[in-house]
Order: sequence, then C-alpha cells, then structure tokens
Amino acid sequence: MNEFIRNIPLHCLPLGSKEQIIVRTHEPAALPAALASENPEQVIAVQLLSLAADSESLNAWAAGLPVELVMADPATEFPLLYRHTPLLDQHPVRVVVPVRPGFFNAVKTAVALDFAVQLDVGQPDPALIEELAAVLKFYLHQSTVAQPIEYFQGALLGFYHEEPASLWAILDEDPQWLRYVADDGAESLNGRLAGAGIKTLAPDVELDVWIEQVLAMHEECRNCEFLRHCGGYFKWPRQDYDCAGVKRLFSELREAASELRRDIEAAPVSE
Ligand code: SF4
Repeated sequence: MNEFIRNIPLHCLPLGSKEQIIVRTHEPAALPAALASENPEQVIAVQLLSLAADSESLNAWAAGLPVELVMADPATEFPLLYRHTPLLDQHPVRVVVPVRPGFFNAVKTAVALDFAVQLDVGQPDPALIEELAAVLKFYLHQSTVAQPIEYFQGALLGFYHEEPASLWAILDEDPQWLRYVADDGAESLNGRLAGAGIKTLAPDVELDVWIEQVLAMHEECRNCEFLRHCGGYFKWPRQDYDCAGVKRLFSELREAASELRRDIEAAPVSE
C-alpha cells in the first residue's frame, strides 16, 4: 500500500507519525524550532508561502533540504526573489511562478538568480498562451538558462527520450502519492484536483490507472496525440477548456526535441 506524501501547514506539527511530509508556512523563522523534534528523513521539502518573509534563519539550517518559494503575484513580487538568494548556498531552491499576466519577468528574474522554476500553469487563456510561448522560446534558445523551467524541461526530455511523463508527475500533482492537508486539518487530493470532488481510487493504484479511469476521461483527451505527455492535465478543473494553445506548445516542444536529436546525431564523434 502507498505511503502518501502529505503537504501540511506548520501548525500541524508535531505529527507523531512516520509519514513523509512537505511543510508549508508563511513564517520561515518558525521552521527550525518546529521541525527540531521531527525525524529529518520525514521532511522532504519546505514551502515558503510569503516571499516578503525573511528566510535568513533557513540559510544555514538543514543543508540539502529542498525549499520552494511560492509566488502569489508574479507582476509585483519578482523583486522579492533577490532577498532569498543566500538560500542557494545550502538548499536546492525552486520558485513556483503562477501563470498570470506579467509572469515572464518573474521567470527571467528567477533564472538569472539561479533558481529553478516551476510554472503553476492552470488553464491559460489565449493571452497567457502567447506569454507561455515567449517563455518557451526563452527556455529553448537562451544559453543563459541553466536551471530547469517546468513543465517545459520534463516534457522536452519526455519527447527526446520517447519516455513521456504526464504533467501530473512533472508538476508534482500525482494523486498516487500526494495529499494536501488544509489549515483546518481536512485532507484532499493535491493541487488542481483538491476541490474537484472526485472519488479517489485505491491507494495502491498507479498514475497510469488514475489517468485512464479519472483524469483523462474527456473524449478530446482519448484522441489527443499528446495524451501520454499531458495525461488530461489541462481539462481540470474546467472540462470545457480549449486545448488548442497548449497543444501548440506541446508541438513546439516535440519539434525542439527532434531538432536536438538531429543535432546530436550529426555532431562529429570525437576520438
Ligand atoms: S492537451 Fe488537452 S486534450 Fe490533450 S490530453 Fe491534455 S487535456 Fe487532454
């Protein structure tokens, strides 16, 4: 049977169980003391929900523990990333950037500061598809981009190796493994599935079965050439979402992977 990874608020500590957890908080200064009594192997990441908060107390704490900086408004908050750069000395750090107007600046700032990026892509409208296309171009063609921008990197690798992973896995919303514990202690599926009111499957059911039986039931998904790379991700929560724009982005990623393969095959083999 699966052991779920639970995303829990800091005030739910101490847990008194051995499950793996991601701890989220608006107050990073409270983390070291609150986690002192937990088994360090249980805590697989921390999420900081307020970029305005001071993260200095985490700089020299729990070396190697992944830290996620969750941005609320990319258009106004991107300058706040500068204050968190000392975290990079001890932690892998990823910035979650919501795909909202003006998010490209936030992505460029995060990448320039050497943070990994995860796009909280949602169901982007046509204007945001154009901004996503610009970010994809930046990711594919700027040699200065040394950090991954997800979901682009995961999808590109899936096309390149012909081993697709769905966006549920790439964007850490895999219902096979993840549960979200709300501030009042109520537990649900994680991410976009949280409020969908869908019946959960048995705990040992794999993601492929979730996709087959729950996540990609829409007829358009059944016939979609990108089903194995997407998994029906863009049909949640609104099933009537028009996928034309996101399919265009998948096509560009597929073409970029083909080009990359052609370039590598044509490169001279060194002696
Ligand atoms: S791109 Fe749209 S139609 Fe295709 S699998 Fe994803 S959600 Fe379904």
